Formats: sequence, structure tokens, C-alpha cells
Amino acid sequence: MQWTRSDTLVLALEPCAHCAGEGLREGRRGKSVPCNCTLRGVFRACYKRFRYCVTQEKSMSRVSLEYTAGRDRRMSYGRKDEEYCADFYLVSKRHLDEFEFKVFKYHFLLGADWKLCCRKMGLDRGNFFHAVYRIEQKLGRAFRELKPYGLYPLDEYFTGTTHSMDRAAKVEPSQPPAPPRIRLRIPLRKCA
Ligand SMILES: [Zn+2]
Repeated sequence: MQWTRSDTLVLALEPCAHCAGEGLREGRRGKSVPCNCTLRGVFRACYKRFRYCVTQEKSMSRVSLEYTAGRDRRMSYGRKDEEYCADFYLVSKRHLDEFEFKVFKYHFLLGADWKLCCRKMGLDRGNFFHAVYRIEQKLGRAFRELKPYGLYPLDEYFTGTTHSMDRAAKVEPSQPPAPPRIRLRIPLRKCA
């Protein structure tokens, strides 16, 4: 997947020593790759939304109507907040190894601070924060690059608008059928 500057500028840390706030840095063979500060920015945006979804009242959850993927573009009902929480958890579990997922579970899901995590897992402070940064970078990339639809950008996830659907909408516009043409019967004047 190609990352562009418009993707990364908002997420990058301004004082970052590696990308100087641009969000992209030069990788192998001169190719532009996302800076770690950008990947962590993606994770933090997704994590913030996850916390919002799990802490809000259940009665606040909304049912939304959206297009399903496929040629016929049918519509279906869904609970986006619950789907998002499930996706956030399952994608994280799939992309982290056993140790990383343990840190993720204690620190991000259960809300334990670094002191409690270090005591519980027998880690020192440095190793704990290295693990946290690694987890944020791994998941930030996974959330953005997930196929066919990523968790990030969040507005695309929650509104269901994707570039491929925009293209499909242009090919098959959903316009109402044109009304039948009415032939006007113009009266003719009789010749004298
Ligand atoms: Zn950076």
C-alpha cells in the first residue's frame, strides 16, 4: 500500500527527529515509508475511538443502514460501534505475538498502568515501553493497511464510504426511472 503525505501530515509528531513532522521517511531503495510516529498516531486514533465505543451507554448505540460489498450492492443493517470493537480486538489478536498480546490486554484493554504491568509480567520499565511502542506501530500499520477495508480512516469505517464504492456509484447511479413521455395532441385548425 502506498502512503501519501496527505495521509501522514495530520498524524505525524511535529518535533519527530526522524521525519521532521512530515510523517514519511526514506526507506529501502529510496521508497517513502510511514514514520513510526505516524503509525503510532493511527493506533492512538483507533484506540481513542475504541474507548469511546466501549464506555458509552448501550442505549446510545445506533443501528445504521449501509451498502454491502459486491456487485448487486444490497443494503443491510449493522451496529457499527459493536462491529468496530470486535474488529479492533480481533485484528489486534491476529497481528500480535503471545507476549505482545499479553501486554496489549493488560495495558490497553484492562487499563493497567506501567507499574502494575511490570510487576505482573516481571518486566522492567524500559522493556515495557519498548513493547508498547512496538505494539502501537504494528497495529497502526495493520489498522490502516487492512484489506479490503481498514479500521482507519475512521470516517470511512463508520460511514461506509470507500473509494471503490464511490467508483461503483459513479458507474451505476441510483436514479429513479424516467417518466414515460406524453405525446401532446395539438388541435388542428380546419381550413375554410
Ligand atoms: Zn516521525
